[in-house]
Amino acid sequence: MPAQIIDGNAVADRIVAELAAEVAKLKAAGRGPLLVAVQVGENAASRVYIKNQKESCEKIGISYRLDELPATTTQADLAAHIGKLNADPRVTGVILQMPLPEGLDPRAAQRAIGFEKDIEGMHPANMGRVVYGDAAQAPCTAHGAYLLARSLELPPSHDPLPEFAKRVIAAGKTTAGLYGKNVVVVGHSEIVGKPLALLFLDSFCTVSVCHIATKNLAEMARQADILCVAVGKPGLIKAEMIKPGAAVIDIGINRVPDIGPDGKQLLNKKGKPAMKTVGDVDYEKACAVAGWITPVPGGVGPMTVAMLLKNVVEAARAARG
Ligand code: NAP
Repeated sequence: MPAQIIDGNAVADRIVAELAAEVAKLKAAGRGPLLVAVQVGENAASRVYIKNQKESCEKIGISYRLDELPATTTQADLAAHIGKLNADPRVTGVILQMPLPEGLDPRAAQRAIGFEKDIEGMHPANMGRVVYGDAAQAPCTAHGAYLLARSLELPPSHDPLPEFAKRVIAAGKTTAGLYGKNVVVVGHSEIVGKPLALLFLDSFCTVSVCHIATKNLAEMARQADILCVAVGKPGLIKAEMIKPGAAVIDIGINRVPDIGPDGKQLLNKKGKPAMKTVGDVDYEKACAVAGWITPVPGGVGPMTVAMLLKNVVEAARAARG
């Protein structure tokens, strides 16, 4: 049977609708969230992100402000500006637009944002909270990918469920579908692979993490009931590396030439060579083996946006008491 396609937009829409209701409550109590985006210098790509961020926020009632700093901003200037935002009680969230102009250290700038206002979940304190089982401000893509897997009605690995499983399910730590599953995460980056592995571990999954030095990737991947891939290499995961019936969460985003049936690259509306977006999994063939699979685009991407909004709301809720 072909894989069920996991509709990331539908899951994200449900989460965003709940967030809209939460924002309305916060605003009614005079405690509405304000997200401030900081942009240093000019960058065409981040203009698009900013426009999308603003639209996503305003759609659910989150106030959004863009602070534009000149390209000549020094590391100290940027830290001082972020320091002012940290100290301003009206500001509940801060997001730094990347890339920064050459010469500025993005990691140092990112860490200048107080962990309470770090809505990307990248501050060491927020990463640390994930270790302690608190995903309130977890890294967005990892949290989105995890919740997408959690939204599936996977058959339980244990039948009947042990008493301990029933207790942790009742406590909301996991689900009958996740409890005891073998999860393989391919990619060990700080913002995706590592936190994603921790989120599954905390749900009582047995987690393996693969990376560039993993010798037997195909063998490891085939052990997975839930296979998550976050590498950035199109076609890395082939159909024969997937256990029949597994859930496949493809986090990769790659731009590749769009090839027609005649083997030639198609042309776009402007008559230029067409490109398309694909993940890290050989999607068409994987659909014949997997039980569930995320499309790219339309899988993890919308969940990342939803988690960003969730973090804005969580930060506002925490800040406003
Ligand atoms: P990254 O920092 O470049 O990390 C890639 C990871 O893959 C690294 O841990 C790397 O290991 C590992 N790797 C490289 N080659 C490998 C191989 N042949 N086999 C196994 N592992 C290998 O990238 P990232 O930020 O985590 O992002 C990963 C992908 O997700 C990218 O395509 C990115 O565009 C996409 N992404 C999507 C979203 C979304 O919203 N859907 C959000 C963020 C990122 P080493 O470091 O040891 O080389």
